Amino acid sequence: MLTDRIAEVKERIASACIRSGRSADSVQLVAVTKNHPRTVVQDAIEAGLRVFGENRVQEAVEKYRGLSEGPELHLIGHLQSNKARFVPGLFSWVESIDSVHIAEALSRRLVASESTCSVLLQYNSSGEETKSGFAEPSELLEAAERIQGLPGISVRGLMTIGPFTQDSARITGAFGSTRLLFDRVRAMLPGVAIDTLSMGMTDDLEIAISEGSTEVRIGTAIFGSRGE
Ligand SMILES: *Cc1c(COP(=O)(O)O)cnc(C)c1O
Repeated sequence: MLTDRIAEVKERIASACIRSGRSADSVQLVAVTKNHPRTVVQDAIEAGLRVFGENRVQEAVEKYRGLSEGPELHLIGHLQSNKARFVPGLFSWVESIDSVHIAEALSRRLVASESTCSVLLQYNSSGEETKSGFAEPSELLEAAERIQGLPGISVRGLMTIGPFTQDSARITGAFGSTRLLFDRVRAMLPGVAIDTLSMGMTDDLEIAISEGSTEVRIGTAIFGSRGE
């Protein structure tokens, strides 16, 4: 049952928070509905979920357009500049900003539609070439400063995807380095609400929370494996 799986995930999040001495509500759950149909989103809303993630713009347009309940939708996959026009009115967060160029394209679209968006800069903490995101901390810091000045956009923090491995020491290392970079962005932009560190998925949410995550993005543990 969907409601049971949601309860289990919330329990995992709460236990991890308590083990780290954090309050159980200090981590936001983003339910990732990619590869699942619109009916699944409707069921999840009925089950009480309000914040969702999709990694492809086109899929999200088809699935989320016109949903009366108006859930909060986060883009968690790579954004191409020719798709930026679909963001206003659909996504209130883009977690996957990986260049100044794409942020500028998004900013122009937001201004044109008198809309705003919270963004996270994606850090490639694993160094895996298949993953998007800024590879170098210095590059990310410089971009954060420039992107923060763009109209319509609020920089809120960082997002990362853990390494694809069972090696928990490597996962801890990747999340720990992202946390340090998050603290540097905060120190560099005083007065800006840098409050969101999005890391942790079905297999690594406990490690992510112990390393300071404030938001986990969960698909499989809630909706089953994709395409099922
Ligand atoms: C698919 C996806 C998730 C969810 O992963 P699960 O392992 O299914 O929980 C989280 N973040 C991103 C960026 C994704 O693409």
